[in-house]
Amino acid sequence: MRGPAVRLSVIGVEGRLAALHRELEACRVCPKMLGPVVHGPAVPSRILLIGQAPGPREGRLGRPFAWTAGRTLFRWFEAALGVGEDEFRRRVYMSAVARCFPGKARGGGDRKPDPEEILRCRTHLAREVEILEPRLILPVGALAVEQVLGHRGPLAAVIGEVRRARYHGVDADVLCLPHPSGASTWHRTEPGISLLGRALRLLAEHPEISRAFAGASPAASPGSPLPR
Ligand code: SF4
Repeated sequence: MRGPAVRLSVIGVEGRLAALHRELEACRVCPKMLGPVVHGPAVPSRILLIGQAPGPREGRLGRPFAWTAGRTLFRWFEAALGVGEDEFRRRVYMSAVARCFPGKARGGGDRKPDPEEILRCRTHLAREVEILEPRLILPVGALAVEQVLGHRGPLAAVIGEVRRARYHGVDADVLCLPHPSGASTWHRTEPGISLLGRALRLLAEHPEISRAFAGASPAASPGSPLPR
């Protein structure tokens, strides 16, 4: 009896996520957002990764972290976990603070979603948390860290440790990562290099990672060693 019941609950989660994705795809409530809406597949995972917002290429490619920042992010995961991008996407639910490309900022770089946009898109994120009940949350970048932990100070104060937090009514471990954008120097200079290395080691040791990646195919080519 246990097998079919578990299978049914997984189907239930996938179905609810798929229904949410259909609503998301129709969402046009933010007038300044250029869009389109970007989301990953309906993965019934207990690990929730939260980025900032899609960039200009993700809409065409149809998945989050599909361009250069994503390449860096998946290189980190490959080095830490020994799994490639496809395997990671199959086993971790990838979300974001905002789901539409916000356009470019005046000084160059992507515009950060504004507080009203974050508030509107939070309803989608809250429903994902309700459906998935994550045990491990990975906020990527300062904006996602602020949303999950309420932390607005230096990233160095939160990266390189696992915190326990209640997020949209669900208690979970929170492991923060810097944004992998090429425009950021944080993860390429000290203390960012060492703190990122520590965070990735903690990630690799986390029991939820062992559960999620049990039986995963190893990456085709081993990643670069973790920063020490
Ligand atoms: S950013 Fe979120 S709330 Fe705003 S239009 Fe896009 S999907 Fe809708």
